[in-house]
Amino acid sequence: MGSVVQNDKSRARWGSTGLRGTLAVLALAAVASGCGAQGESAKVRPAPGQQPLKAPPARALDAYAGKLRAQARIAKRWGLARAPLTPPAPPAKKPHIATRKGFEVDGHEERGLPPVFTTIPTEEKIVFLTIDDGAEKDPAFLRMMSELKIPYTAFLSNFLIKEDYGYFKRMQDQGVVLNNHTLHHPYLPGLSYGRQKREICGMQDVIEKHYGKRPLLFRPPFGNYNQDTLVAAKSCGVKYAPIWNEEVFVDHWEYREWDRRIHPGDIVLSHFRGRGEWKGTMPDMIRRFLDKVTAEGYAVARLEDYL
Ligand SMILES: [Zn+2]
Repeated sequence: MGSVVQNDKSRARWGSTGLRGTLAVLALAAVASGCGAQGESAKVRPAPGQQPLKAPPARALDAYAGKLRAQARIAKRWGLARAPLTPPAPPAKKPHIATRKGFEVDGHEERGLPPVFTTIPTEEKIVFLTIDDGAEKDPAFLRMMSELKIPYTAFLSNFLIKEDYGYFKRMQDQGVVLNNHTLHHPYLPGLSYGRQKREICGMQDVIEKHYGKRPLLFRPPFGNYNQDTLVAAKSCGVKYAPIWNEEVFVDHWEYREWDRRIHPGDIVLSHFRGRGEWKGTMPDMIRRFLDKVTAEGYAVARLEDYL
């Protein structure tokens, strides 16, 4: 425990030095290119009819430095060690998504069942954040994610969201895709095909009714499924069944892999939980998540952009 706290502190120090360093370099670059531009214009006049540059390069650098400073201010306001990294543009060609080895059910590929996977194949240093269930409905979390511009994907269970569909409507309005996590969050392999189908297809109907779209993504509760689960999901329009490679809590991380690290393309799971369920708030959990991925050089990308 002690060493974890120590790590966080050293990251925080490194983070702010890193930003100051970046701004200092930019300031130097601005000065240097400003001088260069002046010197050149004295020697080389624009050809007739050619417009002189409207904005000197220094102006663009100023704008860039200004944007970095604004991002740093927002990050600081939310208590982050440093500003989150910007993800690359969505890929022009989507990666091929296959079921992870050992996670297949009988006839998985032959029957065209939704693939079950824990990472997206990519070389980019990106991870995907997915948040499940829907118990906690913290307005500060919505503000934090929209101000920081962090994409994430929600997997919702009706019995937890039905008391306040409006909260998740606001989430959807911020660009978050709302996906299927069953009506009542049961252990699906313990149910008949018919009951599994009611749990999964019933939630497709709820999301379509309240949010206007039938989800393409479905996540089985606890990550547990059998062949019936995927056949039922496919029958009501599900295309993908992403699970996860890491889970972030308000006070620790858990890993599926033996190396206990995050990897390019990893899907990270967390939950809509508050102080009643763990020792902190949704923003506390997001701080833990972002400080680690940013310190390790990862950006957070949008899962749907890769599917
Ligand atoms: Zn769940």
